[in-house]
Amino acid sequence: MAGPIPIAIVGVGKIARDQHLPAIAANPDFLLAAAISRQGKVEGVPNFTDFESFLRDGPVAAVALCTPPDVRVAMCLAAIEAGRDLLIEKPPAATLGEIETIIAAAKARGVTLFTTWHSRFAPAVERARIWIAARNVTRLDIIWREDVRRWHPGQAWIWLPGGFGVFDPGINALSILTHILPGPIHVEAAELDVPSNAFTAIAARLAMRARGTIPLTADFDWRQEGPQTWSIVVEAGSERMELLMGGAELLIDGRRLDVGPEQEYPAIYRRFARLVSARESDTDISPLRIVADACLKGRQVATDAFRD
Ligand code: NAP
Repeated sequence: MAGPIPIAIVGVGKIARDQHLPAIAANPDFLLAAAISRQGKVEGVPNFTDFESFLRDGPVAAVALCTPPDVRVAMCLAAIEAGRDLLIEKPPAATLGEIETIIAAAKARGVTLFTTWHSRFAPAVERARIWIAARNVTRLDIIWREDVRRWHPGQAWIWLPGGFGVFDPGINALSILTHILPGPIHVEAAELDVPSNAFTAIAARLAMRARGTIPLTADFDWRQEGPQTWSIVVEAGSERMELLMGGAELLIDGRRLDVGPEQEYPAIYRRFARLVSARESDTDISPLRIVADACLKGRQVATDAFRD
């Protein structure tokens, strides 16, 4: 296609404003042509409230979907049916069945579908993948503890069915895990702390195994105030790798490596442009499968009500 790809952003909330709009503005391969949101507005472009009527003649070739996961399936199917290439925020949908329906529809219609996992584009993740590929990993532990009030202020949807609760950030860790340690991962046990006034967990502890043998643990907690912890610690015999701050920092046997600046969302849009140009899709759903398995296998523990 000659010239930039006209793209619409759907769901003008926190992540659209914080990351997608700046990344689109900085990428000459895209031109923001419209915003669709019930209340949110973007200055300088036409704004619409109804996605399906927008799709009938909205002058865009691509759509970036930033709504909560539980409302995505109908929007995705409408965009695909209208022949628009599609970039979806993580988690790609609320269930495995929904995302499999979306992937099949995109394939049948011949549109590009990119189910993004922004944490995979953190600067140290590729170095971590290469370190692991050259070794026999003997254990891996995830600690992902953050303050829900800071990252999801006033967002009621995260506590509703399909809202993911603490798996909303936890799936970022699982997206890194499944990228740096490819192969099957199964959940052996899970414990989910669910506030008495919510439908989703505020904390979760998972015991897993990779490739049938390697022990993995994950400790997700949304109640951490002060400094935030997004760590993955990998052991390979006596060697140790620490992927810290969500993949922004890397320590090998205690020695810090220079991994370069943060660039997750600019990298996502560079990849989307390449996929659109090549008429290809990127639709890995392995992180969502682990969350689904944790919910299937998880023991729920009632905990204190959550007040925002
Ligand atoms: P958000 O602030 O609530 O924004 C989502 C927007 O979607 C809302 O502002 C809302 O705008 C629109 N929307 C459409 N249907 C909705 C519905 N039924 N319920 C609620 N909102 C609806 O959420 P967010 O933090 O941007 O998260 C959106 C997605 O980005 C999630 O999948 C999340 O995992 C991902 N993400 C978030 C972060 C973060 O730091 N918050 C980071 C990375 C990825 P209108 O009311 O105008 O329609």
